[in-house]
Amino acid sequence: MRLKNIPGSREVIADSCFVIHDPEEYRGKWKNLFGNDYPLHIEIGMGKGKFIMGMAELHPDVNYVGIEKYSSVLLRAIQKMEEVELPNVKFIRMDAEDLTKVFGRGEAGRIYLNFSDPWPKDRHAKRRLPSRQFLGRYDEILEKDGRVEFKTDNRKLFEFALGELEPAGWRLEEKTFDLHGDERLMQGNVMTEYEERFSSAGNPICKYIISR
Ligand code: SAM
Repeated sequence: MRLKNIPGSREVIADSCFVIHDPEEYRGKWKNLFGNDYPLHIEIGMGKGKFIMGMAELHPDVNYVGIEKYSSVLLRAIQKMEEVELPNVKFIRMDAEDLTKVFGRGEAGRIYLNFSDPWPKDRHAKRRLPSRQFLGRYDEILEKDGRVEFKTDNRKLFEFALGELEPAGWRLEEKTFDLHGDERLMQGNVMTEYEERFSSAGNPICKYIISR
């Protein structure tokens, strides 16, 4: 998702108390920022924030950090937060390639990837968020029993993601090619913007949950 450049978005982000502007300073200390001992869950590529804010409302005893690369998209999430103000959500504008500079070893309990960009060219495979290169970064920041949860309607990307697990040393806990047809895995499901759009167009949604 890359919205047209919106004039003023950088200034709004710079002034927003919902955005962490110096995230590297909190490496290993995110509990201090939130002021509690709740687990830390991260969404990478959160888009306009519908999923992470829905999760935060449902789980007030979890701290959520949403990461988004583009200011024009993050701006939409900030605007939503101005309406609901959830104490357990913070945003960072950054490229997820720098994850390990921002989160300490074993600091996160869960990582969510939702409808990640497919990067269809082979030479861009390492930019895909479920690639083995990214799995290596997740391995560093996730606690021992940590999980990655990935949803997409892109079957080719999902097949690629499944193929990355073994070489990267990860294990499948759950897998479905039709999340919305799976009553058990749908329990507690919070839809993302893309999920709403694609599932209402009739596309099946794939999901995995992995651990190592
Ligand atoms: N997760 C949302 C959803 O399901 O509705 C948005 C999906 S959109 C296709 C993917 C989002 O991930 C975009 O907003 C894009 O800017 C962001 N993104 C892609 N690569 C990223 C990266 N390396 N670091 C941070 N954000 C990234």
